[in-house]
Amino acid sequence: TSGLTGKTAFVTGGSRGIGEAIVKRLASEGAAVAFTYANSAVKAEQLAKEIEAGGGRALAIRADAQDADAVKKALNEAARTLGAINILVNNAGLLNVKPYDQFTMDEFDRMVAVNIRAVFAAVQAAAPSMVEGDRIITIGSVNADASGFPGMSLYSMSKAAVAGMTRGLARDLAAQGVTVNNIQPGPVDTDMNPAEGANAPFLKSLMALGRYGTSAEIAGLVAYLASPEAAYITGASIDANGGFMI
Ligand code: NDP
Repeated sequence: TSGLTGKTAFVTGGSRGIGEAIVKRLASEGAAVAFTYANSAVKAEQLAKEIEAGGGRALAIRADAQDADAVKKALNEAARTLGAINILVNNAGLLNVKPYDQFTMDEFDRMVAVNIRAVFAAVQAAAPSMVEGDRIITIGSVNADASGFPGMSLYSMSKAAVAGMTRGLARDLAAQGVTVNNIQPGPVDTDMNPAEGANAPFLKSLMALGRYGTSAEIAGLVAYLASPEAAYITGASIDANGGFMI
């Protein structure tokens, strides 16, 4: 389809996993897509080339989400190169699971920097130039609402934070005609959470559907929220979790 032709999207953490699927889906709908990565330069450049070879426009930018200034600079570079950002997707995220008494305060700060602070920095850089119909979409997690098992204190905290931030920003940006939403995936088969990993059988047992989600399934929901049809949805945290702990 070509529902997003003429739009520019910016996706954080687009080199692998859910972010890569989002980049591909938005590009397939006609959007020009800039995306960031932290380390996977080769994969990122390859993805951008693949999209360009298919007739799309893409730009890979190294910007570690731990550094809010780097995120803001990446947004400015993307806007200069591809045009003002219409769709911001905050996808880059960090998972760190351990008993509460084994986290260092540096690990606490890193979780906050990547999963919360960078989201806010990206919104501050992108939203002022956004116009009626533009979109902000964050990838939160089912773990905002259900930790499910021990070790999730900081990750659950970070994903609950972006759910709350989404509601606040939805109010702030409503007058501008910009919607702000949060997708809460359950287990999705990526490097972060492999469907054949050690935890997989247990996680599958928690879900009504009994299987992992795919990155493409999450990207499909992003595409819907980015579309004009989703104009009445804002401030929402939307579950796509296979019936996790229902
Ligand atoms: P992956 O670890 O498979 O991929 C992460 C992507 O984000 C990579 O492109 C990576 O870049 C990038 N990234 C990671 N850290 C940074 C950083 N500091 N700065 C910039 N980019 C970074 O993760 P998923 O695709 O599984 O997860 C994507 C999002 O979905 C995250 O927010 C995660 O919390 C959330 N989520 C995932 C679930 C799952 O089961 N997989 C379930 C629920 C939510 P690089 O290649 O350079 O490392």
